[in-house]
Amino acid sequence: IHHGGAIGIDMGIARFATLSDGGFYAPLNSFKRHETALRKAQQAMSRKTKFGRNWKKAKARVQCLHARVGHARRDYLHQTTTAISKNHAMVCIEDLQVRNMSRSAAGTAAAPGRNVRAKSGLNKAILDQGWFEFRRQLDYKLAWQGGHLIAVPPKNTSRTCPCCGHISADNRQSQALFVCVACGFEENADVVGAINVLRAGHARLACEVSDALMSPAAGTHRSELSASA
Ligand SMILES: [Zn+2]
Repeated sequence: IHHGGAIGIDMGIARFATLSDGGFYAPLNSFKRHETALRKAQQAMSRKTKFGRNWKKAKARVQCLHARVGHARRDYLHQTTTAISKNHAMVCIEDLQVRNMSRSAAGTAAAPGRNVRAKSGLNKAILDQGWFEFRRQLDYKLAWQGGHLIAVPPKNTSRTCPCCGHISADNRQSQALFVCVACGFEENADVVGAINVLRAGHARLACEVSDALMSPAAGTHRSELSASA
């Protein structure tokens, strides 16, 4: 097993997951093709005489398509989480209340929602479920491999410049593009988010390590210093 070190992940709509190394995974609604077929089959079923021979045939087709959509989505999540957990020892992810993500999709006047498109069109419940399931799988698969999942607060991850540290909402030129108003650094906005999530993860880990160093033994050391001073 090859552990490629630490990586940050930005979860989104246009891209299901973007990695801090620039890689990304297609959105969960890439199964729309299946869903269209399912909807058509359901309409066909509703036109048949209930419990008739043709109705039973149509019903079997609906059930088959329904299972296929579910399988495709589950396979996709498993492939994604397996690949990430095998290639990275530490994975940092935004600590979002998954359930709140799409509920607050429209955002506020001060912070226009990044998830606006989640509300329109795409099935919100499936999206929420996908994010939740993604995190759950990452968590246990990383544990199997001896790795760690670190959740960090999403504060300013979308508007901090990874190059100079300048924080501004103006850095987000559009949904997709990040251009720092201070230094001119330019990058895909989701990649910037993932880089900042990774940095926040490193910072959190550093805090935990220093807390451990400050515990009993270090405390004794400090009181010795003050006693001798
Ligand atoms: Zn900058």
